[in-house]
Amino acid sequence: MALATIIGSGPNGLAAAVSLARAGYQVRVLEAADTVGGGLRTQEATLPGFRHDVCSAVHPAAVASPFFQAFGLDERIEWIRPEISFAHPLDGGRAAIAWRDIERTAAELGIDGDAWRRRLRPLSTHIDGVTDFTGNQLLRLPHDPVTAVRYAIRMLDQGTPLARAAFRTEEAAALMAGVVAHANSPQPTLAGAAAGLLLAGLAHAGGWPYPRGGSQVIADALIADLEAHGGSIKTGTRVTDLAALDWGDPDRGDVLLLNTSPRIALTHPDIPPSYARALRGYRYGAAAAKVDFALDGPIPWTNEHVRNAPTVHVAGTRDEVWNSENAVAVGRVSERPYVLAVQPSLFDPTRAPDGKAVLWAYIHVPNGSDLDPTELITAQVERFAPGFRDRILAHHAVPASSREAINPAEIGGDISGGVFDMRQALRRPVLSPAPWRTPLPGVYLASASTPPGPAVNGMAGWHAAHTVLHDAGTPAELDDLFG
Ligand SMILES: Cc1cc2nc3c(=O)[nH]c(=O)nc-3n(C[C@H](O)[C@H](O)[C@H](O)COP(=O)(O)OP(=O)(O)OC[C@H]3O[C@@H](n4cnc5c(N)ncnc54)[C@H](O)[C@@H]3O)c2cc1C
Repeated sequence: MALATIIGSGPNGLAAAVSLARAGYQVRVLEAADTVGGGLRTQEATLPGFRHDVCSAVHPAAVASPFFQAFGLDERIEWIRPEISFAHPLDGGRAAIAWRDIERTAAELGIDGDAWRRRLRPLSTHIDGVTDFTGNQLLRLPHDPVTAVRYAIRMLDQGTPLARAAFRTEEAAALMAGVVAHANSPQPTLAGAAAGLLLAGLAHAGGWPYPRGGSQVIADALIADLEAHGGSIKTGTRVTDLAALDWGDPDRGDVLLLNTSPRIALTHPDIPPSYARALRGYRYGAAAAKVDFALDGPIPWTNEHVRNAPTVHVAGTRDEVWNSENAVAVGRVSERPYVLAVQPSLFDPTRAPDGKAVLWAYIHVPNGSDLDPTELITAQVERFAPGFRDRILAHHAVPASSREAINPAEIGGDISGGVFDMRQALRRPVLSPAPWRTPLPGVYLASASTPPGPAVNGMAGWHAAHTVLHDAGTPAELDDLFG
């Protein structure tokens, strides 16, 4: 039986692991941290009984992922499917709301309702076409070219200065800017728009669900399946040198998959100089500075809909969102930053003791920044929820400069696995129809540093496993392994 060694137990590492275990490989996963799951961990970071997501919190990408659909994630965990996908409070108690129901969203956006519907309905009703286009290497013909073209047109509309003309109201402009800013890139840019439009389309398709129990339950479901197929996982094992790692013999069909920064491949003694140059030229970028709060009760948002929205973009107007993101691009942090906030305990009582609440929040900061974002985030939330500060029982801050200690794949606190701009959407980390394959015999990349890039969808891991099986002369599709 051929051996598959996988370094890293993030969603892509585990997606590759279960795929190869089901294909008959003896799989072992080596994980640097003491706990499994990478971007899927949930922990008591503040006080006993308060369970915080260490990285990812909300999972539209997982729900829409062909890998997770084949894996049957919906049957293995319990999703909470909120009516509101994301909310965007504004001064004066106003808010713009992206309901799962696009018609309700459009109706509440008034004179901008048609503009919102025109942009997003063609994406949400053909969401499989959008995820087919965005979930694969872009260097291939999409299965639904009409939807791909519609998506590309909307990228131009939202990813260029044309975006200023899209909406007439502060509400609609802020609502779109808030979702596009997830991309952690300057605004407006094509890559930012690409990520934002995918997320906005998903908001009106399957919505923005999150798992009861926290993101960890997704990792646990993958690990249960891996173990049921004979695989194993070893924590507390950081690999720093591929030359020193015994991962078997590629001539016997053994393989090594890197669910890490691709930089680790530079430690392989046989790395071809041209590939080494490409990896050295691969860029890491803007980072995240995060705070988890334990609260004495729900957040007292002025706007009543925001009180019922798990995901809240706390930033104010479109100009404030753009200023915040563009400040990061030039090495600064805005005094009123764009805060991505999630209040999972709203509909999940497992996350906090009775009557209490948790808040997950982060801002974008320059790579390597050691800024503690607690005060900036607290002030922004307080702006739209007076009294928030008084509800804080405890908090746990993680500056960007500390993220690599939690996850060595997050270089300088970059949570995207490398800058996600148009160049690195195509060249991730090299320009190739199959960038999951390296020129090193038996060595593959299986992380967010390969297409389709960041988010919990397991697709990079699946593409890596698919490439391994193709190279071994035993090709298999998702249905063959999970049907
Ligand atoms: C704060 C934050 C919020 C996010 N929010 C969301 C969200 O809400 N929704 C969403 O879809 N996505 C979100 N993301 C992004 C998402 O978590 C990542 O895109 C995703 O986890 C990447 O998966 P991966 O398997 O490629 O790598 P990771 O999840 O980063 O896992 C890599 C694993 O490899 C291990 N590792 C790395 N190097 C080594 C080594 N040398 N030796 C041994 N082990 C190693 C790491 O410890 C880690 O466990 C967020 C990320 C962060 C950090």
